[in-house]
Amino acid sequence: MPKPFFFIEPEQKKELLKTIDVLSFFHESTLERIAQESKEFSLEPDVIVFEEGEPGSAMYIVLEGEILIYQDANALTTMLPGTFFGEMSLIESVPRTAGAKTLIASVLLEINETQFQEYFATQPQALMAIMKTLSARSRKISNELALSSDAKPGFKGYSSKRESAFSLDEHYREILVFDPKSYQFIKANSLACMDTGFTPEEIQQITFVDLAPDLDPEKLKGMCDSLIHKIRPIFSFETALKRKDGSTYPAECKIQLVKSVGPSPEVLLWIHDVTERKQMEGTIRQMAYYDSLTGLPNRNLLNDRLAVAVTNAARNNQKVAILFLDLDHFKTINDSLGHESGDQLLQQVSLRIKGILRKQDTIARMGGDEFIVLIPGLTDVTHTIKLADKILASMATVFNVGDNELYIGCSIGISIFPDDGMEIRTLLKNSDLAMYRAKEKGRNTFELYTPSMNLKVMVRLAMEKNMRKALDREEFELYYQPKINLKSRKIAGMEALLRWNSLELGIVTPSQFIPVAEETRLIIQLGHWVLVTACQQAKLWREAGLPEVPISVNLSVIQFTHPNLVSEIIKVLEEMEVPPHQLELEITESILMQDTTLAVSILNKLSEVGIKISLDDFGTGFSSLNYLKNLPLDYLKIDQTFVQDYDLQTNAAITNAIVTLAQSLNMKTIAEGVETDGQKKYLQDLNCDEAQGNLFSEPVPASRMTELLKAGKKF
Ligand code: C2E
Ligand code: MG
Ligand code: MG
Repeated sequence: MPKPFFFIEPEQKKELLKTIDVLSFFHESTLERIAQESKEFSLEPDVIVFEEGEPGSAMYIVLEGEILIYQDANALTTMLPGTFFGEMSLIESVPRTAGAKTLIASVLLEINETQFQEYFATQPQALMAIMKTLSARSRKISNELALSSDAKPGFKGYSSKRESAFSLDEHYREILVFDPKSYQFIKANSLACMDTGFTPEEIQQITFVDLAPDLDPEKLKGMCDSLIHKIRPIFSFETALKRKDGSTYPAECKIQLVKSVGPSPEVLLWIHDVTERKQMEGTIRQMAYYDSLTGLPNRNLLNDRLAVAVTNAARNNQKVAILFLDLDHFKTINDSLGHESGDQLLQQVSLRIKGILRKQDTIARMGGDEFIVLIPGLTDVTHTIKLADKILASMATVFNVGDNELYIGCSIGISIFPDDGMEIRTLLKNSDLAMYRAKEKGRNTFELYTPSMNLKVMVRLAMEKNMRKALDREEFELYYQPKINLKSRKIAGMEALLRWNSLELGIVTPSQFIPVAEETRLIIQLGHWVLVTACQQAKLWREAGLPEVPISVNLSVIQFTHPNLVSEIIKVLEEMEVPPHQLELEITESILMQDTTLAVSILNKLSEVGIKISLDDFGTGFSSLNYLKNLPLDYLKIDQTFVQDYDLQTNAAITNAIVTLAQSLNMKTIAEGVETDGQKKYLQDLNCDEAQGNLFSEPVPASRMTELLKAGKKF
């Protein structure tokens, strides 16, 4: 199975469709839709694309391979890349008059009928034009059919040395007949003579091998033998044909046995000048492999070249450098000056960079303002750094785009084969990562990929490893943040918040380690530890005679999947002699997204015992008002984003709505992340019950909380 060289983007497909005569009548927008919906697919040899008599619902463009069109077990013609078939029944809604099958492995582009019909309904004149084109086509095909299937006596027009059993009328195509043993031409029609420049008499003096000097005689013999012994009905191939004047032209040739029974077998040769089609194929190739704006290689070609570069480098013990380039603030230029200016700038940038590169280097456009420079056969990596410097320097001078003088920088990320990866995908990803580092460093600079760019991944692994030890080593600590009653301005409760001071990693924030703990399910042990520690602390404070304020503990989704959650919590409360109403559990809406029924039943049990439940980060989740009514909730915690941007109209409206909603459902509201007096005042005006945030106190260790409780001050 050949690899389809076509991976055509819709935009390029549209250009390809325009070159197909029956489609050339369509509007841009229709072609665009057809391009979007048409699909490439590859077929093994000898696969029926459609059968005769079948209702047709698609036409096909041959992208690669060879398709045999047949009728009543006779070969009609074969279709080569760049040609199309199957369109007639599609347009006329009649059953297929011929069948189609692959001769060799082929790649086809299928175009569905829906687009056609939609279009014809509104554009009857287009239908007429298409019908004309098609009737010419079908005339041509039926001529060929007549020609190949039966003998017509009375060959007129040309004399022939050898008496041929086959007659050759004038046809729409260039036709010759030759002897499959000697390859001597027996006759030719006037079109064939015109194309090749020989007279009918002259043509009888030469052989097919003379006419097609590039054709391998062995191959020709093989084909003729197959025809004579009826192994294959028809062969198509392309070769250069030599005119009488010595000039050559590319031609598509088809050979087929003359069906009539004569004294000796004869082979029919159709020749067709494909100079134009060759040009079109060149265009297709250009479209498939090059970027239309800059003319630079596109992603497809880059991938091919990368594969070659990497293979060669591996063989010769060399390196390959990949420079990932992204223009800085290109979007601003594009948005402010318009796409045309943006396009011009991209063209100028590509020219400049291309000017710096050696012949064997490649610069490809990956789309948008992203480019990749590929340096193959590298022995000295410092060359790459010098080149990156050169590229940056080349960008420093002004670009003249229309009337504007523009300056634009770029950020470059570099990865090297084999140091930074063996696979193309990895190398590209790593150069991309390095490019982002370059952007972070302040743009207009380059950055070499280093494994530490995978730091995030590594930190995560280290965290996972160390977290298991951290519990034993007592690296976790609970901090407490007071919740303030906005009327009495006194401490109304507190939230227990985990802190991790890791020996290896230093201070790790909950937003970093909680997700990892959840993923590894370590959160179950950790959550248990938090619960026990918080209750222990409550007991200590009570024993010290301090006010017994509720303590809230955050519960993770994962803890909800633990079967003994409820009994465990009750056990801890009993052991620490903490009354249930002094414990509050903070849950998030995500708990409800997993198994709502289970979550509701767990929460109900907890609530029945007297434990308070509050819904954390409210407003950020999926916030279906439905479930709010069914849950035993005591508090809604308004997420800090709404509090901090309360002056944004939508946020203010949401905050307002949350408070009103909570009141109507008999719940209390607490606002998180209160940092300013303005926010506090705003919440008071809304009649929000409680608030928590750095304005009152940051989360503090237990010792500091003890002091706050003792002081009993108003906030
Ligand atoms: P959360 O439950 O919404 O906790 C509130 C977060 O807001 C805390 O972050 C707190 O330090 C922070 N905060 C408090 N006041 C302010 C303020 O005025 N301004 C700003 N910008 N932030 C403020 P922290 O401690 O980093 O915890 C982050 C999240 O980690 C918590 O969000 C909670 O979801 C989770 N978490 C913390 N401890 C635990 C725990 O023991 N178990 C579980 N399952 N999750 C926990
Ligand atoms: Mg919380
Ligand atoms: Mg929160």
